[in-house]
Amino acid sequence: MAAWYLPIPDSESEPFWNAAAEGRLVYQHCRSCGNDYHYPRARCPHCWSDQVEWRDASGRGTVYTYSVVRQNPMPPFRERVPYAVGIVELEEGPRMMSALVEARPEDIRIGLPVEVVFEREGGDDGMVVPRFRPAR
Ligand SMILES: [Zn+2]
Repeated sequence: MAAWYLPIPDSESEPFWNAAAEGRLVYQHCRSCGNDYHYPRARCPHCWSDQVEWRDASGRGTVYTYSVVRQNPMPPFRERVPYAVGIVELEEGPRMMSALVEARPEDIRIGLPVEVVFEREGGDDGMVVPRFRPAR
C-alpha cells in the first residue's frame, strides 16, 4: 500500500505523474487561447476550452516564493526539518509548488534559478516526485 503522504493521481493529474515517472516535467497548454497552466485540469482555467494538451517543460525556472518548514511532527517529514517548500515559476510560465532540495534553507531566495530533479518517494510502492534544486 502506498504511503499515506503521497499524492493520489486522478484522471486529470495522472498524465503529470506518469510523465514524472519517466523523468519528464509536463504542464498543460490551451490550443484555444494559447495560455499555459498548471495544476492539471481538463479545461483551460482562462477560457474553459477542453482543447488542451500536455507539453514538456525544460525543467528550469526560478523561485517565485517559498517558505521554510521548521516543525512537522509527522514522519517522514520530522526527520527532514528544516526544509523549504516553494512555488517555482517555470521558464515556460506556469507556476508549480514543490520542495526545494539540495540547498540549505538560508541559501534559497526569491528569483533563485532552479532545475527539476526527480526523486522516488515512499519506497518501491511509492512514486516519482518532481522537486527543484539550485540550477547547476
Ligand atoms: Zn484557454
